[in-house]
Amino acid sequence: MNLKALDQNELDYRMKDLAKKEREILHEVLETLKEIDARKSYLEFGFASLFEYLVQGVGYSEGSAQRRIDAARLLRELPVMAEKIQSGELNLSQISLLQKAIREVTRIRDVPVTTEQKMEILENLGKKSFAQTQQQVAAFFDLPIAQATQQRVQADESVRIELTLSKEAFAKIKNAQELLSHAVSSQDLAVFLEYLADKVIKQKTGRKDSGDIKGPTKTNTAAQVKLKTKKGLLKNQPCCQWVDSQTGRQCKSKWLLQVDHKQSRWADGDHKIENLQVLCAAHNKLKYLQEAGIRNIS
Ligand SMILES: [Zn+2]
Repeated sequence: MNLKALDQNELDYRMKDLAKKEREILHEVLETLKEIDARKSYLEFGFASLFEYLVQGVGYSEGSAQRRIDAARLLRELPVMAEKIQSGELNLSQISLLQKAIREVTRIRDVPVTTEQKMEILENLGKKSFAQTQQQVAAFFDLPIAQATQQRVQADESVRIELTLSKEAFAKIKNAQELLSHAVSSQDLAVFLEYLADKVIKQKTGRKDSGDIKGPTKTNTAAQVKLKTKKGLLKNQPCCQWVDSQTGRQCKSKWLLQVDHKQSRWADGDHKIENLQVLCAAHNKLKYLQEAGIRNIS
């Protein structure tokens, strides 16, 4: 199949069709795994466990193998799950997370989780994001909340830190990352923290850019005017305003926001606020390419 010959609609249709087939295959994989597990066939194949068989005999990564085993075993207990997997309502990561929580609850409370309880929590997980699933599962089983910050020095002298942030503190950090996404385009928290540390060190040790030696100038530079316009614009448009012409879906990304001239500068568009809109960097680029008549985006 020549994918380059497909138009946007055909690509979208094909992608969704393939994802549906992928979920159907996943269900078949889990049913087969369930049978191998029940018969303990892996012993005859020469492996000590189902996990070893999947990693060494079939070729899955450790994580993929564990997620499939978790799902197959839950499927054995709750056959109704099959439908939810095929429809995409539940995914492997959610099921694996649930199984992990069930193991933890059984370990710390020493009472098994009943099939009815598992059914009840599963009913609540449909179409939930991974973060929502984590929250629901933790609340359902009333899992202990870890507060203390853990840090451990690793072999290469890097430090592994596990910390707990309140919902509010986490939201603040996310907001700050979005606001600084032009300076730090990585979403990795470690990169962001290092950037902040650099900023503070630079500020506190008094090193200034050479341009600042003469002191601040009174007249606004073009860059400052631009920044002010952007700040004002962002108040009304805090996210990407791009709307897909076919689905009517708005992007709403807050990552790498830029000011775009609705009617482009080269088409005599002016700098008035009515002609300005906020777009994410990706959509700004797309708009430019579309206007320039360039179809293939690399
Ligand atoms: Zn966008």
